[in-house]
Amino acid sequence: MESVPLGRIRNIGIMAHIDAGKTTVSERILFFSGRTHKLGEVHDGEAVMDWMDQEKERGITITSAATTVPWAGHYITLIDTPGHVDFTVEVERSLRILDGAIVLFCAVGGVEPQSEQVWNQSEKYNVPKLAFINKMDRVGADFYGVVEEIKRELNENVIPITIPIGQGEHFAGVVHLIMQKAIYYRQDGKENVVYEVKEIPPEMKEEIKKHRTNLIEKIADYDDVLLDKYLHEKDIMEEEIIRALRKAVIANKIIPVFCGSAFKNKGIRLLLDGVVNFLPSPCDIPPIVGNTPDNKKETRIADENAPFAALVFKILTDRHVGKLVFIRIYSGTIEQGDTVLNTNMDKKERIGRILRMHANRQEGLEKARCGDIVAIVGLVNAKTGDTICDPDFPITLENIEFPSPVMSVSIKTQDKLMGEKMMNAIHALSNEDPTFIASYDSETKETILSGMGELHLEVLVERMKREFGVIAEIGKPEVAYRETGVTVAEGQYKHVKQTGGHGQYAHVCMRLEPLKAGSGFEFVNEIKGGHIPSQYIPSVEKGVIAAMQRGPFAAYPVVDMRVVLFDGSYHEVDSSDFAFAEAARCCFRNLFVKTNPVLLEPVMSVDVTVPEEFMGAVLGVLCQRRGRIEEMVDDNGDKHISGFVPLAEMFGFAGVMRSLTQGRANFTMMFEKYEVVPVSIIQSIVEKRKDKIHRYQP
Ligand code: GDP
Repeated sequence: MESVPLGRIRNIGIMAHIDAGKTTVSERILFFSGRTHKLGEVHDGEAVMDWMDQEKERGITITSAATTVPWAGHYITLIDTPGHVDFTVEVERSLRILDGAIVLFCAVGGVEPQSEQVWNQSEKYNVPKLAFINKMDRVGADFYGVVEEIKRELNENVIPITIPIGQGEHFAGVVHLIMQKAIYYRQDGKENVVYEVKEIPPEMKEEIKKHRTNLIEKIADYDDVLLDKYLHEKDIMEEEIIRALRKAVIANKIIPVFCGSAFKNKGIRLLLDGVVNFLPSPCDIPPIVGNTPDNKKETRIADENAPFAALVFKILTDRHVGKLVFIRIYSGTIEQGDTVLNTNMDKKERIGRILRMHANRQEGLEKARCGDIVAIVGLVNAKTGDTICDPDFPITLENIEFPSPVMSVSIKTQDKLMGEKMMNAIHALSNEDPTFIASYDSETKETILSGMGELHLEVLVERMKREFGVIAEIGKPEVAYRETGVTVAEGQYKHVKQTGGHGQYAHVCMRLEPLKAGSGFEFVNEIKGGHIPSQYIPSVEKGVIAAMQRGPFAAYPVVDMRVVLFDGSYHEVDSSDFAFAEAARCCFRNLFVKTNPVLLEPVMSVDVTVPEEFMGAVLGVLCQRRGRIEEMVDDNGDKHISGFVPLAEMFGFAGVMRSLTQGRANFTMMFEKYEVVPVSIIQSIVEKRKDKIHRYQP
């Protein structure tokens, strides 16, 4: 692979809603490309892409493993992306580092609410893609129906490239519009499917001609030679269509549609040809942008001789090799033993081993280059989202955006030893997953774990138990509220204590200013003339941060505030770091209550699809739960309702939906944003936190 030109590398992901067949498709790709020799059916829990035991048990793919396979003189690295919304981060970070995607649809189910979600995510990162309509063998399969649905609901620029010959139990093969041939599949024994290339069946000729003309019309704009030939009605070569279509796909103007049945081994080879022909190589994507230490924008190009720059997109702890840091290399080359700079941590580290991951084995490499996705051993400090680069050419690549956690559980261990085990586990897991955050509540002596949803936290707690042997008491999942101020408040605080010998003295004047939602925390030092010596400034900031962990309003973390330290005073003998941290902490608490604080709650965007007869009942439930309906549309005879509902109101929603609609409702929810909690509800939340709200007594 090292000697293959960059243009022959593809880094792609497969995206789908749960059950569309992602595991089966990935697995068949590995099988057909010759890397695995046994077909592991999902039913048996044996699919090779599912790394962890837990995933097998739950039948969902949680982590994205990267697997490289050869195909037609090319190398394709498959980055597995999870389908469950609680693992948005996994999807987002894979999207950030892949160059193209296959989006799967079920030929019977069509566009599900979740397909919309993954589609929108891929659009956000402008990822060129192919669509694959899977399960063509299922009774009720409707190829054109699904194509029309995609056009209507997702993107009108989808164009079929393979057209099914028969559907459902009559699904026999496909006609390839570019090759102008029919490909028939025949089962030969249990595991083997042979295919035969034949002429297009006469009864399909008209249909095929129509689609082919449509295809050529759509892509002619992307290739002058093709346009000329089309206008003059000359014969058009296969390569010319491929070239023009490739340009259009890479420009994200057209999405080619393939079809087949992964389960029956049909259509996978043509899909792989499609990946190679139409999806971009690392040289086809725009150069990556980053910031230099002096805050200038710079780009890094996909060139082996350019300075090395790579992004950490995943961390896995492997039982045998330890911490595996998955990176996507954007430019340059690294070798074993090289020293690299982690710009986010400002630490230099050595590249230990370089591994390329195949589905069932790891291959050690001497070096890796731009376009590669490899795992590195030896990067002790790396976290997901960090940049590692050539120390002589430091750069921080645009980081992956992570949403803030919306749900928390408390966790408590029996003794100190178990407590240490727990801290180890938390450290390792939060390195892997930036949306998993732990904090310590010194008053209740509890550790609080926060994540993206119930399932997310459940999986993490389970991993703590299994992989790290943590035995602990887990609380009930709770909504992760936040506090913020609404108005500006200014004031001062003097911390003075005269207790025998040394006294304590610190005096700070601060201003609290509300910031835009999502801005986090800003600390501004405006001290002039040495009124507070610069050595104490970090302690002031520390004191403020400590106070913000537990807002004075309802003991939830304070967010989106700017704290300006503009004046103060000190004492030659009695001032200390401790005194300044204490003064800052108290000053913040006193001032924060004057900013007219409010509580913020996570609000989810919720999509429900139900048969029409249940619509009234579902709307009723949504309204009862403080839902705001945004849209109601017809969806193939069903009703599709979308809107926003506070997470606090979503507990037990699945059960209610099930009993109300006899299990015929389908819904998804995803974190949208934090919003102010209505006044009428605040009191009951604050009431429940009474024992946690610690009032400052001077
Ligand atoms: P994932 O949740 O997207 O990973 O989907 P899986 O690959 O686990 O597939 C979900 C179910 O659909 C499994 O029972 C598969 O055996 C089945 N399945 C996958 N592909 C096909 C197909 O082409 N035809 C049929 N009939 N079933 C399929």
